[in-house]
Amino acid sequence: EETGVRVVGPDNDGFQLVAGKKKKEVEVGGREARGLVGPKAKVPFHIATIPRPQDEYKILVNNSNQPFEHVWLQRSEDGSRFIHPLEKISVFDFVDTSVGCAEPIKPPPIECTPFKLVEEVKDLKELAAKLHGVDEFAVDLEHNQYRSFQGLTCLMQISTRAEDFVIDTLKLRIHIGPYLRDVFKDPTKKKVMHGADRDIIWLQRDFGMYICNLFDTGQGSRVLKLERNSLEHLLHHFCGVTANKEYQNADWRLRPLPKEMIRYAREDTHYLLHIYDLMKISLLSSSSESEHLETPLVELASLHKQGKDSPEASKAFWPAKEYFNIVYFMVYKRSYDICMQLYEKEVMTDSSYLYIYGVQGADLSSQQLAIVSGLCEWRDVVARAEDESTGYILPNKTLLEIAKQMPVTASKLRRVLKSKHPYTERNLSSVVSIIRHSIQSAAAFEAAAEQLREARKESVRCHDI
Ligand code: AMP
Ligand code: MN
Ligand code: ZN
Repeated sequence: EETGVRVVGPDNDGFQLVAGKKKKEVEVGGREARGLVGPKAKVPFHIATIPRPQDEYKILVNNSNQPFEHVWLQRSEDGSRFIHPLEKISVFDFVDTSVGCAEPIKPPPIECTPFKLVEEVKDLKELAAKLHGVDEFAVDLEHNQYRSFQGLTCLMQISTRAEDFVIDTLKLRIHIGPYLRDVFKDPTKKKVMHGADRDIIWLQRDFGMYICNLFDTGQGSRVLKLERNSLEHLLHHFCGVTANKEYQNADWRLRPLPKEMIRYAREDTHYLLHIYDLMKISLLSSSSESEHLETPLVELASLHKQGKDSPEASKAFWPAKEYFNIVYFMVYKRSYDICMQLYEKEVMTDSSYLYIYGVQGADLSSQQLAIVSGLCEWRDVVARAEDESTGYILPNKTLLEIAKQMPVTASKLRRVLKSKHPYTERNLSSVVSIIRHSIQSAAAFEAAAEQLREARKESVRCHDI
């Protein structure tokens, strides 16, 4: 989330661009598929030869075109929404007051830190017992969104003050929740994460886990107004460590994990508790500086409201320490809001095709728009059934290219696909028949085509002003 690229779903090259430019090119499959060879070899984001973890580990998911059920949450009285466990807790409950005197604790070097790759239930059980015994730990996840419909959490990294753990969440998927749900929800245990927005969602979706008591170092960095908010920068700034982020986009479904990837994964949580220590000190000392008192009033007001919601909390903290702790509170408030997000499954509607990236600017006829609609529906149904991403089945860019060219024979279609889309290539005749049918139903798309034309004219006008 620090690259300026908004990633919303897979495309040709794994990511569907909404805005901005790709950061770097990545190679697909090929030579690298055998492993990450040589120091200069690019880390592939997709290794086509990896056996699908869904088959390997019998991962079952509900890809139906229905909203996600948060089965671990209570519903509101009228049944209209889910209640997050945090709603019953105030952000003030998480702000520790003892911080003034706490000495930062330096982590031992990675080489000297005990490490466990957790691949067996008995080791997960042991880890859970250890987490029950500590009051703070760092967490991170690695994820793959290209080869499944909703995305798959591939790894979970956890660091305590003394140990690092990397959990194979593909293999142990169904066991993660039963062993770890309690400690993640326990409001007396601090969870330190960096840029946790998507992790929060992934934990809910894959393991039915909800976090109470988060300190997000990414938010800490923003509140402190550091030059950059990436973990890479924090590692450098607070720990003097130069991180190697080249595996960030790796295909984390790979097994067995090469040692370089394990090392990378460990580094993502190893230093986080220390960064948290130093950040707290920095936040508390900066809150007395006047520039930070210009905190956005809206944000302060919402903090105040929080305090009032919980009478005890407000007695304890508000307003006596108002000025002393204000920026510190802000990090907790933002972290609290991140935890409160709820996962929502992608649901396909009759108008979804109008919102795919690139369609608004494409100047399509009603026939072409009918093809876009037909292909969107087809790839959505297929992607759900096969548990693949829509971008793997047929990326937006190719879908629009097909619509523009309107190929009505298999050989013409094959030419547009350029051997880049194995699933679609294996189903040429179905796709051709969708294209033909769509062309015949073009009349129903005239209004939509006209609307898009109008919208485009309008946006050109706005640009000219
Ligand atoms: P991180 O929090 O940096 O460990 O990233 C967690 C996961 O987010 C990775 O395993 C990737 O799946 C995804 N991810 C991270 N950075 C990027 C990026 N720049 N572009 C696309 N996906 C990313
Ligand atoms: Mn992360
Ligand atoms: Zn990570």
